[in-house]
Amino acid sequence: MNRACVILLNSALGPLDYRVPDGMQVEPGTIVLAPLGPRQLVGVVWDENRIASDPVEDHRLRPLLSAYDLPPLAAPLRRLIEWTADYYLAPPAAVLRMALASGNALDAARPTIEYSATGTPPERMTARRAAAIDRIGERQGSVRELASWGGVSVSIIRGLIGAGAIAPVEISPATRFPVPDPDHAPPSLEAAQGEAAALFAAAVEARAFAPFLLDGVTGSGKTEAYFEGVAAALRAGRQSLVLLPEIALTEPFLTRFAARFGAAPIVWHSAVRQSQRRRAWQAIANGEAAVVVGARSALFLPYPKLGLIVVDEAHEASFKQEEGVAYHARDVAVMRARFEDIPIILASATPAIESRQMAEIGVYREVRLPDRYGGAALPTIEAIDLRRDPPPRGRWLAPALAAAIADRLERGEQSLLFLNRRGYAPLTLCRKCGHRFQCPNCTAWMVEHRLTRRLACHHCGHVMPPPPSCPSCEETDMLVPVGPGVERIADEVAALFPDARTAIVTSDTIWSPAKAAEFVAAMDEGAIDIVIGTQLVTKGYHFPNLTLVGVVDADLGLSGGDLRAAERSFQQIMQVAGRAGRGEKKGHVYVQSHEPEAPVIAALVRGDAPGFYAAETEARRAAAMPPFGRLAAIIISSEDADEARKAANAIGRAAPKQDGMAVYGPAPAPLAMLRGRHRLRLLVHAARALDVQDVIREWLGALEWPRGVRVAVDVDPYSFL
Ligand code: ADP
Ligand code: ZN
Repeated sequence: MNRACVILLNSALGPLDYRVPDGMQVEPGTIVLAPLGPRQLVGVVWDENRIASDPVEDHRLRPLLSAYDLPPLAAPLRRLIEWTADYYLAPPAAVLRMALASGNALDAARPTIEYSATGTPPERMTARRAAAIDRIGERQGSVRELASWGGVSVSIIRGLIGAGAIAPVEISPATRFPVPDPDHAPPSLEAAQGEAAALFAAAVEARAFAPFLLDGVTGSGKTEAYFEGVAAALRAGRQSLVLLPEIALTEPFLTRFAARFGAAPIVWHSAVRQSQRRRAWQAIANGEAAVVVGARSALFLPYPKLGLIVVDEAHEASFKQEEGVAYHARDVAVMRARFEDIPIILASATPAIESRQMAEIGVYREVRLPDRYGGAALPTIEAIDLRRDPPPRGRWLAPALAAAIADRLERGEQSLLFLNRRGYAPLTLCRKCGHRFQCPNCTAWMVEHRLTRRLACHHCGHVMPPPPSCPSCEETDMLVPVGPGVERIADEVAALFPDARTAIVTSDTIWSPAKAAEFVAAMDEGAIDIVIGTQLVTKGYHFPNLTLVGVVDADLGLSGGDLRAAERSFQQIMQVAGRAGRGEKKGHVYVQSHEPEAPVIAALVRGDAPGFYAAETEARRAAAMPPFGRLAAIIISSEDADEARKAANAIGRAAPKQDGMAVYGPAPAPLAMLRGRHRLRLLVHAARALDVQDVIREWLGALEWPRGVRVAVDVDPYSFL
């Protein structure tokens, strides 16, 4: 009797045993279709004895329905899935789902049909049809995608297909992706780059686990250096994976990659269309995809012959996933490299303290690029003391910064103003009664967005039109914005420099890779004089004519008392400063602050990154905070405040007394209400050597709570909201 243990794509279920019917071949890793009640679910055959399934007698087993004609998930990926589930206390099925891209990607043996506009107008043209065709433009996709792009119903798209204005296009699964050529256009590398490149190439050839920390100042040419690792993998017929922190960064990356290798890599992120995703998944799984660039979700895909992983901008907090499986892609990437027995490169100009520490103790090999490529100088950083040199009333740019912008305009150079706040103003209140607009679902203010004329909650997405009168005192025309967001800075810039061409860069304006490409093109053409942006503009971009950076509020990130607040501020300002003076002209950075003597700002001005990091690292060591100690957060939430509090108290009371571990709370989470759920938090602080996951598993495993209560564990938390 042939039985198989299967993990189904259903996080509520543990592994189940099935009978393998005669004639069906399965092995660990085989992707199968299995019956569950009246339903059919995708699952993966797992190794016997690695994961416990409920014992079921042979005669009661149901047979598997079919096995997919796809390569089985390889052992290193199966080990990674087990490790991730174990470390982050997540159901294995939830991790497996990321490898199988939710199972939607599996059926691609057939050609897919997509649709696009033909250019022939329908005989009967209505305003709605015309608008839809216009919005769809040159895009190609499913009927549903076209409907969403066109802002119309599916039936209107069907009508347009019937009228010949939109036509089907067949995408054959046999269409191959172009193959990048390692010898297409190799650069001539500078000495330090060449040494780094040689190390990476040798490590790829050696095919053994080798973690590198590529620590190079902004503009040092880290990408060119790790591209040589990718070239070595291409020559060896192995796949490479490059993880980027932000979808917006893939667009410039693609251009550079194509210039170096003569063909684009395969792209993987949430904005990739369903049909493309399916084709990409298949190409990855069968080994055809030579190089994949993507967001963190690309990490779990079933590469059969991975030869190299690169995590670019590895310090970025966006590698930490907060929803679903709360994992850190940088850390899991290192584990994947370990299981695959391959090199991994963590590249950053401002490595995280965790990564530096690993280099310090010799686990990671540090590779340094100390100078900018091509002899470009690093920018000068200067603080503006807002107490001594304040902006005029109701304004946010100090006279010295405004003068510097004027100077750049005169010289035809570009400026960048950085403020990590979307919208017009972070808080809106009523001038008469002082009523503050708060989100009904969250402990957060509604943020005014003038461009889209609404108030929005940045946590749950709740929006409302600006009310004509105050809901509290009914006064009309009473809204007063308090504090600046990027839109308000843009207004100030327009008032100061009416002829300057400005662009606001935030997730509100750059919401797709195409929008990012448009922005980059406009900058390159010199069609923009002043950029006003959030953290979205701090990383990756290379604009040679940008010579001035102004940090509007350097104190912003320092409030809040988050463990990493100082480190994150330092990284963010270093990164945004790194956008200045990347070409032949020298860059200058102004940092506006009410407290320029704060250690972060003082270190930035002195150019003393090592000093700053040494002090931060010592502070962490003294407090036994990560990476010297461990943290885990337990978030308890419910729509019912009372129920949430009771459950949190019960969990808190049941906390095990354990040497080397302290439990704090429960306390209301800083975002005490989020999306209509009341939240409380327990924080577990433990010694490094303690298996804190095991303790939490046992602790929570013995408890029960009402159905409406959700308990989520965040191991190595980044967000302290
Ligand atoms: P980083 O990622 O380290 O900030 P980049 O990789 O963006 O730096 O490099 C900065 C600029 O220098 C880019 O425009 C890049 O194309 C260019 N560059 C770097 N190394 C070379 C090289 N060896 N040959 C030609 N151009 C290079
Ligand atoms: Zn909200």
